[in-house]
Amino acid sequence: MPKLFGGTSGSQADGELNGMDFAWSDQQRELLDAVGRFASQQLNYDVIENDRDGIFNRDAWKKCGSFGIQGLPVPTEYGGLGMDPLTTVAALERLGYACKDNGLLFSINAHLWTAVTPLIYNGSEAQKKKYLPGLCNGTLIGGNAMSEPNSGSDAFSLATTAIKKGSKYILNGSKIFVTNGPVADLLVVFATVDKARGPDG
Ligand SMILES: Cc1cc2nc3c(=O)[nH]c(=O)nc-3n(C[C@H](O)[C@H](O)[C@H](O)COP(=O)(O)OP(=O)(O)OC[C@H]3O[C@@H](n4cnc5c(N)ncnc54)[C@H](O)[C@@H]3O)c2cc1C
Repeated sequence: MPKLFGGTSGSQADGELNGMDFAWSDQQRELLDAVGRFASQQLNYDVIENDRDGIFNRDAWKKCGSFGIQGLPVPTEYGGLGMDPLTTVAALERLGYACKDNGLLFSINAHLWTAVTPLIYNGSEAQKKKYLPGLCNGTLIGGNAMSEPNSGSDAFSLATTAIKKGSKYILNGSKIFVTNGPVADLLVVFATVDKARGPDG
């Protein structure tokens, strides 16, 4: 069994520290091995050509969706695998070891952490039911639009406005550097409903 921390004494069982078991379970090990096999056998094609020609490998994206990568942390009722954060991160780490397409890995992580996760925690039930299954199975690509020409790390100075009209919001503004922007189907967009309220707007 792998040791997650160094320095455990010889009297402790592998993966055990101060009576706590840090070893991967059989199920986790099976998942990690399967992710590694999947990535090395099915994702490492046309990587150099796609990079040179600026092509997003949507076929590889769909394969990842079918395998369950984009659904790793998503509750099963919305089409995900319902994995805990540690298992999710370990699976993505294994994906990173075995997949040579760094652009695909970057896209998957932007999708997962800047679109899927905000939707899980902040989306309405209707939004979750509508978007999460597609975001999990590889049909939809998500992203996050926060940065603007005059607001980067100082995100609270963003100028994009959201004006409520009936049950919808009208967005006005410019966004830049949006990972997955050219291929995204769904974006989490940051905007202010009241500039006078600063960060609270
Ligand atoms: C690969 C990549 C992917 C990205 N993907 C996305 C995305 O998906 N969605 C999105 O919205 N944005 C995305 N961004 C944009 C990213 O969030 C911004 O680049 C980041 O917030 C920094 O903003 P900026 O480039 O305007 O730099 P600035 O905020 O203008 O910073 C420029 C420099 O000034 C320094 N600095 C800033 N403020 C201070 C301060 N108060 N005191 C001292 N030094 C300071 C910074 O450290 C930096 O060195 C991405 C960027 C990269 C590189």
